Amino acid sequence: MAIKIILANPRGFCAGVDRAINIVELTLKHFNPPIYVKHEIVHNKRIVADLKQKGIIFVDSMEEIPNNATAIFSAHGSPKDHYQIAVKKNIQLIDATCPLVSKVHKIANDYNVKNKEIIMIGHKKHVEVIGTTGNVEQNIQVVENVDDVNNLIVNNPKNLAFVTQTTLSLDDTKDIIDALREKFPNIEGGESGSGNTCYATQNRQDAVKQMIEKNIKLLLVLGSQNSSNSNRLKEIGIKHNIDSFLIDGISDINDNWFDNVNVVGITAGASAHEKFVQEAIEYIKSKFNAEVENMEGIEETVIFYPPKILRDLEK
Ligand code: SF4
Repeated sequence: MAIKIILANPRGFCAGVDRAINIVELTLKHFNPPIYVKHEIVHNKRIVADLKQKGIIFVDSMEEIPNNATAIFSAHGSPKDHYQIAVKKNIQLIDATCPLVSKVHKIANDYNVKNKEIIMIGHKKHVEVIGTTGNVEQNIQVVENVDDVNNLIVNNPKNLAFVTQTTLSLDDTKDIIDALREKFPNIEGGESGSGNTCYATQNRQDAVKQMIEKNIKLLLVLGSQNSSNSNRLKEIGIKHNIDSFLIDGISDINDNWFDNVNVVGITAGASAHEKFVQEAIEYIKSKFNAEVENMEGIEETVIFYPPKILRDLEK
């Protein structure tokens, strides 16, 4: 049976991921090894493996970075005390925190200055949430779902504000925000409607929803298991009763998934390279009689430049 492949647009790398990988490449070019990266620079197994091959040492804690070393902080953001430790250890720090994550840190800090009690919508153990809550001088409560909101106990219901992780499901976030506003009508935050969800998360989720309208029977999302925004794309397919799989590459594809499938949708999370998408297309074409339809979509023009220290070295 001939298969039609529908390609979501936009898909794959966002400006924050592009910048973070560029920062690592430029640091490799201009600084002597060893170069440490705290946390996976972006949540993609293949990209991390590739950078390890190029000599990058990935660590999970500040203790693992020696004094006077060169180190990069990942795109997801870091708690304030990690910056303080970097200064104490005389670490040459290059910060790859996505500017949109830094913006959420700033919003949270502004609420803190106004003495607001802050609630964060996000996944408690996600490194971005640890970074954001660790940037503010108060104990931020994190809610993951509507049940958490129902169980939430606050000091002063009239003095609250909320921020959100950047890579959540837009639909789930809306439900949680609605629940917060219902329980605490005076809560501040989320003026844009979807909290602090970033443009890339929003656009990729919207593109998958459009693709689903084309009656896809199978959804393949290129992305790693620990990638928040990629998981959210897969969940959209599952919610619509479509067989949906998160794959790092063609070695994860099971040919049986294509049984009785005439239309397959392909997208990629914000940390998955376009090369991985093209490999998947070639694989499906080689196995089945497939043709590709590239969906129309929003053209993204956001660009984030590397930090000044690297821009100066490139001059
Ligand atoms: S997904 Fe959004 S917040 Fe995260 S790195 Fe990309 S642009 Fe930045």
